[in-house]
Amino acid sequence: MAKTIISAAVVGSGPTKEMNPAVPYTPKEIAEAAIGACKAGASIVHIHVRDPETGIVCSRFELFKEVFERIREGCNVLINLTTSGGNIKGENIIEERLEPVTLRPEICSLDVGSMNFGNRVFLNPPEWGPAAAKRMREYNVKPEIEVFDAGHMRQAIKLINEGLFEDPPYIQMCMGAGWGIEATPENLMFMISLLPPDIPWSVLGVGRMELPMITMAFLMGGHMRVGFEDNIYLRRGVLLDSNAQMVDVAVKLVEQLQGEVATPDDAREILGISKNTTN
Ligand code: MG
Repeated sequence: MAKTIISAAVVGSGPTKEMNPAVPYTPKEIAEAAIGACKAGASIVHIHVRDPETGIVCSRFELFKEVFERIREGCNVLINLTTSGGNIKGENIIEERLEPVTLRPEICSLDVGSMNFGNRVFLNPPEWGPAAAKRMREYNVKPEIEVFDAGHMRQAIKLINEGLFEDPPYIQMCMGAGWGIEATPENLMFMISLLPPDIPWSVLGVGRMELPMITMAFLMGGHMRVGFEDNIYLRRGVLLDSNAQMVDVAVKLVEQLQGEVATPDDAREILGISKNTTN
């Protein structure tokens, strides 16, 4: 059986310390959460950054750089930096969103579609996807194509068919995020039915649907994502005390289902990422 990649999205843009005191804000806290997740069995860590004082999501390059360097020193995990551009405003949004790519992490997220997300609009206009794909290719960074709904999948497939990605393209299906597709078993089956054949793919589920969605992902041959970006509870009314604790749940799930958790080097092989010392 193929090995299962566990990604840990350790901070995201939404959760606060008021919701769960273990949510990391500073680069040191974010890096420690990532390294802890790696030690627990995650082979990829997905990173947003926060204003260290306020915890408000931001996209300051020096914060990405510090987190990136601290994780690199700490473990062999694949680093996946977001390009969702939290709080970037103004004229030059595309260029600013793509700044983390220049750090040459193994992976950057690439959102293809626009949608309502909480009380804001998550804007990914038609020119964004091709521009981001081109820049990531220049820097030898694997895009993790995030889709939040069926129409996003169609957009992703169009870009794949246009040859914008190195093989294999890698898709993350975000279930129950914002006003995207609801996280139900039927919806996940439908989304899986839309995937191009023979590519690696992963699933996340928001809130209480995290565990059901990653379980289904495993059963259907996919990879899985957990972490505070998606869920801060161990079970109803019980907060997680770390990202590593939920990674441990995922590891035990895979093992109980007679699967095998991918190491970082396994994940590199599955995703076609060469081990590059400049990375
Ligand atoms: Mg993210």
